[in-house]
Amino acid sequence: MAHNNRQATAPACDPQYFPVVTGADLLNDPRSNKGTGFTERERDELKLRGLLPPRVFTLEQQAARIMENYRRQPTDLDKYIFLGALQDRNETLFYRTVLDHVEEMVPIIYTPTVGEACKKFAHIFRRARGLYVTAKDAGRVEELLRNWPERDVAVIVVTDGERILGLGDLGANGMGIPIGKLALYSVCAGVPPERCLPIMLDVGTGNEDFRRDPLYLGTAEPRITGPAYDTLVEEFVQATQTVFPKAIIQFEDFANRNAIPLLKKYRDRVCCFNDDIQGTAAVALAGVYAAVKIQRKQLVDQTFLFLGAGSAATGIADLLVAAMRADGLPEQEARRRCWLVDSTGLVVHGRDRLASHKLPYAHDHAFAADFLSSVQTIKPTAIIGVSGQAKTFTREVLEAMASINDTPIVFALSNPTSKAECTAEEAYRWTNGTAVFAGGSPFAPVTVGGRTFVPGQGNNVYIFPGVGLGVMGSGAKRVTEKMFLAAARALADKVDDDHLAEGRIYPPLSDIRDVSVAVAASVARVADHGGELQGLPERELESRLRSLMYVPSYVMK
Ligand code: NAD
Repeated sequence: MAHNNRQATAPACDPQYFPVVTGADLLNDPRSNKGTGFTERERDELKLRGLLPPRVFTLEQQAARIMENYRRQPTDLDKYIFLGALQDRNETLFYRTVLDHVEEMVPIIYTPTVGEACKKFAHIFRRARGLYVTAKDAGRVEELLRNWPERDVAVIVVTDGERILGLGDLGANGMGIPIGKLALYSVCAGVPPERCLPIMLDVGTGNEDFRRDPLYLGTAEPRITGPAYDTLVEEFVQATQTVFPKAIIQFEDFANRNAIPLLKKYRDRVCCFNDDIQGTAAVALAGVYAAVKIQRKQLVDQTFLFLGAGSAATGIADLLVAAMRADGLPEQEARRRCWLVDSTGLVVHGRDRLASHKLPYAHDHAFAADFLSSVQTIKPTAIIGVSGQAKTFTREVLEAMASINDTPIVFALSNPTSKAECTAEEAYRWTNGTAVFAGGSPFAPVTVGGRTFVPGQGNNVYIFPGVGLGVMGSGAKRVTEKMFLAAARALADKVDDDHLAEGRIYPPLSDIRDVSVAVAASVARVADHGGELQGLPERELESRLRSLMYVPSYVMK
C-alpha cells in the first residue's frame, strides 16, 4: 500500500494512510517522500530520525526554497532538468510548486522548453520514467505492460517520436513529450499522478544523427514501417485494453502518415484521441469563438486559409466544419470556408497526388503557387499557421490581411517558438494593431500605437487535461467529436470582456484548474453513456469532478 499524500488529514496511526516503506527507502520513493517535511512524529515512527536535517519545514517553506533554486538556474533547459529532478525526488512538492507557478513553469515543463529537452534527451537523461515498448517486444507487449507498478491507469500518452512538435523525428528522445503532457494532466486537471502512464513506442528512428550518437537511448536502427509497424501498434492497443481497461489513450506527435489512419482505425474501437489533431482543433476553435467576438461577427462569416495541410490543419478544419454545421450551415458550404496551402501551394481540385485527408478541402479554384498569392485570391478573414515553417507569415502577407479585413485573425501555431509563422510583435505591427493574434508558444505583451495587446497562446493544455478528467469522471467509453465541440465552447466561455479588451482570446493559465473543470463538465455532459454525472445540475457536476482531482498536499501526522 503506497503512502497517500492525497489526503489533507489522516486519522493518527491509521496504517491505511501511511507507507509500508520506511527509513532511507522512504526518502527514495518520490510518491511518498516529504523530505524535510516529515513531522517529528513521522520521523520517529518511520525510522527517519537522523536521516534528515533536524528542522521540519512546511510544504510552502519547501516550495520557497525550490523557487529560490529554480530561479537561479541559468537557462530554461537547466530549469527543466531541475524540475525533473524534483519530480523524481518529491512528487508532492513538484506538483505543489508547478501548480502555484503555472504560468512561469508550463513553458518549462512543456513547449517550448520540452522541445529543447527532447533534442538533448539522451544527454540530460537521469532516471527512467514511463514504459518503453520496442519493435523487439512484438508478441509480449501485454507482459511488458504488466511490469508497470500501477493497475488503475486513467490516462496513457503514447508517441512513436516521429514528429515531435515541429522538430521532426526525434525517435526515443521524444519520450519527453508524454512525460511532460502527463505532468500537465496532473497539474492542470488534477488527474492523480499515479494514474498517468507515459509510453514510448520505440520503433527506430530516421534521425541519423541520433542513430550515430553513442549516448542515444533508443533503438539505433531505421524505423519499422508498413505491416510490422501496424501489427505492433495493434498489439499495443489490444494489450492496453486488457491491462488498463479504464485508460484513455492519447496519441501524441505521430507523423501524419500514421496519426490520421491510426485515429481513423481506433477512434470507434477504443477510448482514444489524437491531441495534435483533435486537441489542437478544439483549442483553435475556442480561439476562433473568442476572436469573432472581438470582430463582432459570427463563425459562419469567416473564411479560413491554413498554411500547412497536415494533421493539425485538417483536424482544425474538420472541427470548424462541425461547428459551422452546428450553427446551421450545410456541410459543403462549411467546407468551402476552409482552404489549405501545403508545400506545393493552394490545395485545389484536380491537383496531382493529393493525400486523402486534403481532398475534402480541394475546392474548384485556380491554383496559386504560394501563400501570399493564396491570401490575395481567397481573401480569408483568418490565417492559421500549422506548417512548422518559421517566418512564413511575412510582412506582405500580414499587410495583405490588414488590407482585406478590419480585424484579421492571425494564428501562428507552429511550435516551438523558433518555428512560429510570425511573432506576436510582427502580427500586431504589420497589421497596425488590428490583428487578433494567437501563437502556439507563449509571447510577451506587445505595445503598438499606444495600445498593449496580450497575445493568446493556443496551447492544447487548455483542452486535453479537461477532456481526460471528463472521461475519467463520466466513465465514457469513447472520445467523440461532440466532446471537442463542447470543450471548445466551454473554453471560449472562460474568456471575459476584460480579456477580450486586451486582445486576449484565451483565459490566463493561472485559471487553468477552473478551466479544466469547465471543460471536463462539458465533456461529461455530452459523453455517450456518460453515467450518473450527466443528470446533475452544473454546479454539482463540477463539484463532483473537483472531488476527483489530485491536490498536492502532505498528510500531517
Ligand atoms: P504535419 O507534418 O502533419 O503537417 C505539416 C504540414 O505543413 C504538411 O501538410 C506540409 O505539407 C506543410 N508544409 C511544410 N512546409 C510547408 C511550406 N513551406 N509551406 C506550406 N506548407 C508547408 O504536422 P502537424 O501535426 O500538422 O503540425 C504542424 C505544426 O503545427 C507543428 O509545428 C506543430 O508544432 C504545430 N502544432 C501546434 C499546436 C498548438 O499550438 N496548439 C498543436 C499541434 C501542432
